[in-house]
Amino acid sequence: MPSEYTRAALESVSSYPLSSVAAGHVVPILAMVQVAVSATDCDVTFSSFYRDPAANAAAGGSKFSDHLSGQCLDYVPDTLSVEDFARRLVAAHAREGNGAWWGQLIVYPYDSRPHIHESLAGASWRYGEILVAVASGKYVAWDGVGPVPESQMTANLSNVDDQGIIPPLLVVAGVLFLVWLFILRGS
Ligand SMILES: [Zn+2]
Repeated sequence: MPSEYTRAALESVSSYPLSSVAAGHVVPILAMVQVAVSATDCDVTFSSFYRDPAANAAAGGSKFSDHLSGQCLDYVPDTLSVEDFARRLVAAHAREGNGAWWGQLIVYPYDSRPHIHESLAGASWRYGEILVAVASGKYVAWDGVGPVPESQMTANLSNVDDQGIIPPLLVVAGVLFLVWLFILRGS
């Protein structure tokens, strides 16, 4: 039976009520997952969308997680392994192209609950990145074609989520640029 890709399904795996920012991402998130399901011919079950700060901390999410703004979705493929789901998605994107389908695709094959984290194209300034979580808080780039990078776990990997270091660095760079523009150059 196909999953229900509805606002209600997103809300059911979220902190509720959705923040106004997260509510604004409901339509693009549902469109994003519909593309993934159509491309892979595999239904999915949502596991996490918007998290308020408390829920994000409880889930082990990064302080800069896209879950805090509702720009990403975690889901579990119903009939494929997470690796095979990602391979199909990447192959479909290579065939059909048409710009970035995701900002960041993180595959969690070694999590206690294997899942895929997919963020909107442009979320956290990312377009088409593919990563595999190989240990708690450790991510390795993957081409989405060959074997997934091997586990580097030394302990149980449980529900870690998201790397998110670039946005704050960009904010700092932007502020420095504005200082340069308006103060140093203007003097
Ligand atoms: Zn996630």
